[in-house]
Amino acid sequence: MNKNIAIDGPAGAGKSTIAKLLAKKLGLVYVDTGAMYRGLAVFFLRKKLSADDEKEISRAAAEATVTIKYENGVQQVYLNGENVTAYLRSEETGKMASASSVYQAVRDRLLDLQRDLAASTPVVMDGRDIGTVVLPDASLKIFLTATVEERARRRINELKEKGLEVDEEQIRKDIAERDERDMNRPIAPLRQASDAVLLDSSDMSIEEVVDEIIRLYKEKNPV
Ligand code: C5P
Repeated sequence: MNKNIAIDGPAGAGKSTIAKLLAKKLGLVYVDTGAMYRGLAVFFLRKKLSADDEKEISRAAAEATVTIKYENGVQQVYLNGENVTAYLRSEETGKMASASSVYQAVRDRLLDLQRDLAASTPVVMDGRDIGTVVLPDASLKIFLTATVEERARRRINELKEKGLEVDEEQIRKDIAERDERDMNRPIAPLRQASDAVLLDSSDMSIEEVVDEIIRLYKEKNPV
């Protein structure tokens, strides 16, 4: 029995914060699959490709190799040998990642890498299709969600804390649009796996969510 944890859910539900804490507390490796899609997105943006052009995006995906390494325990994303971690978090990269991840060629480019990582060491992996497609045998699957309002509020606070100007209405719109696209794409849509536990973090603190997942994990993996 593997000891992997799969966490799926929409943008802004708190997946990465929670997965990082879980990895630390349970001694697992954290794998942020969204960062891999963002790594490919950096490549497409640099080539000035349109996200609508499946043919060009698919061709470019074949030329791009995304790998991940850990430096002081923190995931670093390499694109064709260059560390692009600093470019991953912009809104532009997030939008391109969301729009290009609908294509089969893009998903196939990352699938083996994600599976190989989980086969080499126990992981907490977060994304949109981890419990359903990437790691269907994960020992624990969590579907982490929160209302659109709450997720927008968190994102707005995060940007404000960085001292950035925020168009609150635009953030809400972007989140709703991204949900719509992630849930309704034909390939590997965002879905709760039938054996996943649903956690709504709207009214839960980070610690409460982490504690609940640890409790579930220990139930499945008694020492
Ligand atoms: O989680 P994050 O916002 O970094 O992911 C960026 C985009 O990559 C998502 O909007 C989603 O469309 C895509 N993605 C995906 N499958 C995953 C992880 C992310 O399609 N496993």
